[in-house]
Amino acid sequence: MLTASPRPSPVTPTIDLSAPGVQHGHLRLPYSRDDSAWGSVMIPICVVANGEGPTALLTGANHGDEYEGPAALFELARSLDPAEVSGRVIILPALNYPAFRAGTRTSPIDKGNMNRSFPGRPDGNVTEKIADYVTRHLVPLADIVLDFHSGGKTLDFLPYAAAHELPDKAQEARCFAAVAAFSAPYSMKMLEIDAVGMLDTTVEEMGKVFVTTELGGAGTASATSIGVARRGAGNLLRHAGILAGTPETAPTRWLDMPSADCFTFAGDDGLIVFEHDLGAPVRAGDVIVRVYPVGKTGLAPAEYRAAMDGVLAARHVPGLIKAGDCLSVLAVLREAP
Ligand code: CA
Repeated sequence: MLTASPRPSPVTPTIDLSAPGVQHGHLRLPYSRDDSAWGSVMIPICVVANGEGPTALLTGANHGDEYEGPAALFELARSLDPAEVSGRVIILPALNYPAFRAGTRTSPIDKGNMNRSFPGRPDGNVTEKIADYVTRHLVPLADIVLDFHSGGKTLDFLPYAAAHELPDKAQEARCFAAVAAFSAPYSMKMLEIDAVGMLDTTVEEMGKVFVTTELGGAGTASATSIGVARRGAGNLLRHAGILAGTPETAPTRWLDMPSADCFTFAGDDGLIVFEHDLGAPVRAGDVIVRVYPVGKTGLAPAEYRAAMDGVLAARHVPGLIKAGDCLSVLAVLREAP
């Protein structure tokens, strides 16, 4: 297992993370390459601070093809007035900046998947160096961390904020209280396929309040999903006491992913034909999606059926799939925690 090394981070912030007021700058990470011998990766960062209070760390584009986070956070960084703030807000709208600029999930430099690279390495690849800086220099400053996700180019999700089941039940309750405050249309108790290397796990293991989201996907963002992201970020800052006032709550439906039976993976290549749209109720045994062979006509599709009663919470996009791809995710309605 990787552990944070005492080796110093190569990342240098161009702003003072502890100064009051509004600062716009970069995390500068040296990156020597063919077109710039002594070049750098310049990751945008904004800090808005005023007086005493908690610190929130808000991150977008952990995966580079997910846009609700950047859309909400570039605007928040531009508009947040320090006079309204009690404490500090650290905003990184595009955490995996090389991936964000390329419009890809992973970094074009090293194929690094940011949310499989934590806690990172100061002597690793570019993605691991960014992760290491976040782990050792940003998360420790934070009381609450919000990491925006959506489905990227190959998944589409119901809009939800989420937290995880945690061994520390008091911490878990604080995380779900923050999810409730975010007030997305859906609120999820989320099960991960593989939690190793995630920012989520790193923050949770430090005992912090952590909220993640899946707010849509398909490689874009809608006016509605961006609205959910903007309102949620503001609500979380109000919930933390960094902004005055109470969260602007809206109705939310609580969902649970009770087991790995929630996930369906394609066993076939082909054309996906869904029987249900996101949010639709399904019953155990219902056909969710058919996968048609596309090499010739006359062949029957493979049928994928629901393993439980629930709602369709995520689906593959766009229209073709390969064996092994995640085809769909079901979730079950539950009582609010
Ligand atoms: Ca993601």
